[in-house]
Amino acid sequence: MTVPPGSTIGIIGGGQLGRMLAMAAAQLGYRSHIFDPHERPCATDVAAAHTRAAFDDVAALERFAAAIDVVTYEFENVPVEPIRVLTEKLRPSAKSLAVAQDRAREKEFIEQCGARVAPWREVASLDDVERAIADLGLALVLKTRRYGYDGKGQAWIRSADEAAEAWAAIGEQPAVAESAIAFESEFSVIVARWADGRHSFWDSAENEHGEGILRRSTVPCSEAVVAQIAEAREATLRIAEALGHIGVLTVEFFASADGPLVNEIAPRVHNSGHWTIEGAVTSQFEQHIRAICDLPPGLTGLMRGGAVMDNLIGAEVERWPELVAERGAHVHIYGKGEVRPGRKMGHVTRVKR
Ligand code: ADP
Ligand code: MG
Repeated sequence: MTVPPGSTIGIIGGGQLGRMLAMAAAQLGYRSHIFDPHERPCATDVAAAHTRAAFDDVAALERFAAAIDVVTYEFENVPVEPIRVLTEKLRPSAKSLAVAQDRAREKEFIEQCGARVAPWREVASLDDVERAIADLGLALVLKTRRYGYDGKGQAWIRSADEAAEAWAAIGEQPAVAESAIAFESEFSVIVARWADGRHSFWDSAENEHGEGILRRSTVPCSEAVVAQIAEAREATLRIAEALGHIGVLTVEFFASADGPLVNEIAPRVHNSGHWTIEGAVTSQFEQHIRAICDLPPGLTGLMRGGAVMDNLIGAEVERWPELVAERGAHVHIYGKGEVRPGRKMGHVTRVKR
């Protein structure tokens, strides 16, 4: 079913990803309608409409469903049951959401798809954590099954006497315990998939994190990572196909000494793909809109020699006068208002000549 320009695209979540999706949708002549409980989420500055309601408000979701032609989501912590009222208008489907929002289900699913993850155990008590330490050894990281992002909901255990402290630090919530991976680097594979199975990849970005938050993505990635991309793409495609995914799907990898290990998946456009706005022929945002509206795929090759994308986190956004004065730097400011430590406020992309 083609959704033609002039139609309205619903976007659940009104953060910077929703904002950049709405901007790409507008270029193709679509209107965007944001569904988000906050007062003035930054995507609403560039969208035609905003429904302000809780993500589990079924009556509001029903009205929203009637007002839009197709609907997507920009973050994965949307409760799955209430959004069933969006029916087949929802792309990607609730399955992609359900798998990606629970780290235990996600890891099982990835392994069923024949891809590898770091050794892990499901934990629901301090006893389970102790058992995981005995089974997996140290160091390991506890990650809550739900609602983690930007390193939140995680605690490291480097010696056995840190177990209780780490379990308390994640709020004694159902979690996974995962072995520390001595990776050489991290990279991501981003794919866009159409309902009929057509798909396109972008060049992979090598990703640097600080305190669990993405700092920089670089394209092309280093030789060591390039050698792992074919296997990583195969794994990504198997995951996308098993989900019946429509739209953009991102898979984060650790480049380990014995090949690519999946860290996590995001059923959506991703921070490590922001460089595609200026660095690739078609951006991840436009391609996602094309896929969910069933327009033909755009080309995804490099515009030039690659790109480096730096996030502007917290007070770093205050460097904007210097950045906008830098010739050739593409400055993106999300218009979020309040600067908070660790908050993604914008990014800068420098395309390689
Ligand atoms: P988030 O949902 O917050 O992005 P991730 O699981 O991707 O959570 O973790 C954030 C970052 O923390 C990763 O990109 C990586 O740098 C580091 N990290 C996470 N898990 C591991 C691990 N098992 N071994 C080593 N580093 C890890
Ligand atoms: Mg991550």
